[in-house]
Amino acid sequence: MMNSRKLLAANWKMHLNLAGAQSLTQELIERLAAPRVPVVLCTPFPYLHPLHQLIQGHPGFHLGAQNLHQEKQGAFTGETSGEMLASVGAEYVIVGHSERRTYYQESSDLLSNKLIRARQAGLKPIFCIGESLQERERGVEKEVITRQLLFGCYNLLAENFAHTTIAYEPVWAIGTGRTATAEQAQEMHAFIREKITERYGDNLAQETTILYGGSVKASNANELFAQPDVDGGLIGGASLDAAEFADIYQALLNA
Ligand code: PEP
Repeated sequence: MMNSRKLLAANWKMHLNLAGAQSLTQELIERLAAPRVPVVLCTPFPYLHPLHQLIQGHPGFHLGAQNLHQEKQGAFTGETSGEMLASVGAEYVIVGHSERRTYYQESSDLLSNKLIRARQAGLKPIFCIGESLQERERGVEKEVITRQLLFGCYNLLAENFAHTTIAYEPVWAIGTGRTATAEQAQEMHAFIREKITERYGDNLAQETTILYGGSVKASNANELFAQPDVDGGLIGGASLDAAEFADIYQALLNA
């Protein structure tokens, strides 16, 4: 039976122009046909609406944004609310990506508000957590993850956490070509599921999708996805290449 927690998400970051985004999406539609696990394309804001039109009639494809503002609306020049994202076809939203934590000083308090706001807009958050290289070298990765969960997403009511996906992304593995070993990923994912059990109970923990992210490629996807608590991937660089992403999708399907 197919693991119903499986999901594959692409994080395109600040890449591609509109024509490039449309042709990548078109190629994915052709290569993946009707995906049997949800495939979420997290695109730059301006591409959500045109891509929404492109994926109409292709079940299995979903759109996500890469950020949202923590307020519902107001005088916040240059910002984008969850409601706006939902109105142009986003179903998911990445919250707490390490690039935003680092470059825009997004704190756990802020991320907690963003998660709540995302749910109020009906979006499904993909909440990213992960330790830095220094934290891993100091052996405090589990403490770091515990704090990120506690202060970041434990304010969500169970009914909202039920629509939240967790992405474990060790910062030292993002865009570096250095991947966590399958054993390291499994250890952290099992730990995260344990923490979710403590807060939300075993049923919800067993239903929670926990993605791995950090230099996932077709060549390492099989091993990572074979781990019992690795339910899929959040794919950065490799998601910009349709053939590579299709191979990663196939690895998840086969796992
Ligand atoms: C990411 O941006 O979430 C990510 C995992 O990037 P990459 O796959 O390029 O390491």
